[in-house]
Formats: sequence, structure tokens, C-alpha cells
Amino acid sequence: MYKKVKKYAQEKGLTVSEKNGLAYGNLGGIFLAIHQDPVTPARHTVQIWVKPGPSSTLPDISGYLNQCTSKFKYLQSASYGNGRITAEFQGLGFQWGKNYVPCLDGFLKEITEYCRNSGLILSCEQCETPYDLSLYQADGVSHVLCPSCYANIADQIRQNVNRKAKEGSGNIIGGIVGALLGSLLGVVLWVLIYQLGYISAIAGAVMVICALKGYEMLGGKLNTKGIVISCIISVLMVLVAEQTSLSIEIYNAYIDYYDITFFDAFRSAPSFLEEPDIRAAVIGDLAIGYILMAVGAWGTVRQALKAGTGRQDFRKIAPVSSVHANIE
Ligand SMILES: [Zn+2]
Repeated sequence: MYKKVKKYAQEKGLTVSEKNGLAYGNLGGIFLAIHQDPVTPARHTVQIWVKPGPSSTLPDISGYLNQCTSKFKYLQSASYGNGRITAEFQGLGFQWGKNYVPCLDGFLKEITEYCRNSGLILSCEQCETPYDLSLYQADGVSHVLCPSCYANIADQIRQNVNRKAKEGSGNIIGGIVGALLGSLLGVVLWVLIYQLGYISAIAGAVMVICALKGYEMLGGKLNTKGIVISCIISVLMVLVAEQTSLSIEIYNAYIDYYDITFFDAFRSAPSFLEEPDIRAAVIGDLAIGYILMAVGAWGTVRQALKAGTGRQDFRKIAPVSSVHANIE
């Protein structure tokens, strides 16, 4: 967590959880959570869970928040929905290092005062219950829920996971055909670039991406098995591509003197590797090709694995010890 915001949170008596990138607790009698953006230091999301109490009606929170966005420089946006105020802060321009925390502090002071004065109380974001609440986190967003609403959501997540599991491993044969066709596009590209005299290895990245996409298109689902199969096919197809490229060169060099076919050249290509110069060039091509292939595969694989696991990551952070100073 950005150290100035962390220090501020600690001074205000909030609980700081570095692991979850989160500071939470009661500020001015109102429970709130401050999220740290995982990438940008001076970027935070403030969440406050409030609904009208028994003796109050819902005020124009959105209108009030609109005023706040013009008043507080680093408040990029603020909205109220699903029983929750969400305020996005980002430090931009010059001197935000000095002014960011005072701006955040100013907003938090005003919004908590506003919530107190309007008789808003901490409630479960799904229902109206103000009792027995806990703070949860899912995909970088915090949720405040009562036990029964949490049970409902946990149920839905479980069903989603079961459904994903039922979809099974997809069609492996179709996937293999798809990966082969995809990688063939890469082979063609590799050979073409080789002919033009450029570094053909850049086709390595294209090859593995096309193989993975091909597996997904014809196999239905890119799971771990599909990723392994697609990568093995791509690794082998790079060898085919390089041998084809080398064979074309051999063929062109010998056709004027000998009566050879392209397949003679293809078969003889490995024996040319005994030439140190050719061997060095081929090893260089393959090495760069495999490196670019790993780079190309990384993004696609990570995305597929993330999608494959489903959103099970719904963690309980802490029970919310609500102050309820504002319940008469
Ligand atoms: Zn609830």
C-alpha cells in the first residue's frame, strides 16, 4: 500500500491489510474500506456501505457526490449504488505527492459527516440487515454482507464452478486439429519472412497464439491439457518451419546444377547442419523463435487459466464491528 496512505490509515486507527491491499475500519463513526490499486501507487477506491436507518429516508446521495467530485481535486468519480458509495481517487499532475492524502482526508471527513447527519447506517449491501456483518473481498472489490446473503453468493459461486467443471475438457481431437491448423499459419509466415531475409523467428509468437486459438476454436475449451498440447505442437512446428525454410534455400542453390526435387532438399537439410555456419544460424533462429514463442504464449495462457478457474476468490477479511452510533 502507498506509504503515505498507509500512514494516514494507521493514524486514523484503520486496520491495514497489506496482503489484501486494503485499509478498513470506522472513521468518524462510519465503516469504510480504502482499496489500493495494485499497479498505480496514488490510486485508491473508497467504499462505504450505507442505507437509510429506521428513522430516515434516502437522501440525494448521488447529487451530493457530484458536488464532491468538483470540490476534491483527486476525486475522479463517485457514485452510490447497491447500498454502497464508491469513490475513485487518483493523484495526477504536479505535486500530488504532497496534496493527495490531505485531499483524501478532506473527502473522508465530509462524506462521513454527511452519512452521520443524514441518518445513514451501515447495512448489508444485498439486504437491509445492519447486524452480524462481515467484510469480504472478491477480485479487488470489497463487499459487506450478512451471513445469509453471503451464503447465497457462495452458493452461486459454487454452482458456477460446478457448471464449469461439467463443461468438461472439451473435444481433444478437435482441439488438436485446431492447434495444427493454427500452427500451420505460423509455419507459412515463418517461411515467408525467411524468404524475405528478415528474422523469421518473430513468427514464433504468432504460431503459438494461432495454435492456442485454434485449439480453443475447434476444441471448445482451452484448459491446461489444451495449453500443453498446443505448446508441444508449436514447439515441433517451429522445427518444421525452420527445416522448410532451409530446404528452400538448399533447393534454390542446387537446382541449377542437379536434378533435385524439393523433397530431396527437405530430406538432405539435416546433413547441412554439419556445416558450422549453417548450424549456428539455425540454432540462432530456433532460440529466438522459442523465446518469442514463450512471450507470445504467456498472455494467452494466463488469460485462459484465469478464465478456467472461475471466480472462486471470495475471501472473508474481517467481521465488521459496526459502531452504530447513529441508531437511536
Ligand atoms: Zn444481507
